[in-house]
Amino acid sequence: MRTRPCNNTRQTIREPYSAAIPRHSPASEPTPLFRVTQEIEFCYGHRLLNYDGKCRHLHGHNARAIIVLEGEKLDERGMLIDFSDIKRELRTWIDEHLDHRMILCDRDPVVAMLQKSGEQLYLIDSNPTAENIARLICEQAQQRKMPVVEVSLWETPRSCATYRPEQS
Ligand SMILES: [Zn+2]
Repeated sequence: MRTRPCNNTRQTIREPYSAAIPRHSPASEPTPLFRVTQEIEFCYGHRLLNYDGKCRHLHGHNARAIIVLEGEKLDERGMLIDFSDIKRELRTWIDEHLDHRMILCDRDPVVAMLQKSGEQLYLIDSNPTAENIARLICEQAQQRKMPVVEVSLWETPRSCATYRPEQS
């Protein structure tokens, strides 16, 4: 668990539908949007470089990733995206690459020792913070052409980081 001097909740999740749907304004009519949210739980280990807190040591979290997809049009089934498709595509990737693995920065000196010991690692080129793990999952969703607008990573029940990609 990461300790922070002031407030360790970087962003509080707002009520569903309140954040991303444009407000009505005289200049432009709001565009109706459908929003689909999928929650994926997984366990991971990490440690943070250049950080003076508990997370500088190897440890683990029970995390929840909240993936939010939005779009204006539904398919012939009346779906923005099938929940099963998100599970099959994204949950499978998380299960195979992040779940019960150490997520570490590739510059972390402990990497060589852990690899030598046969530990399963997932290496990224940045510090494995909740923010960067949220971005990582978002990029995986984007690579699968999912209309992802936001990924939140609840590192603990009270601490969450959210990544929003640039909207095209
Ligand atoms: Zn941690």
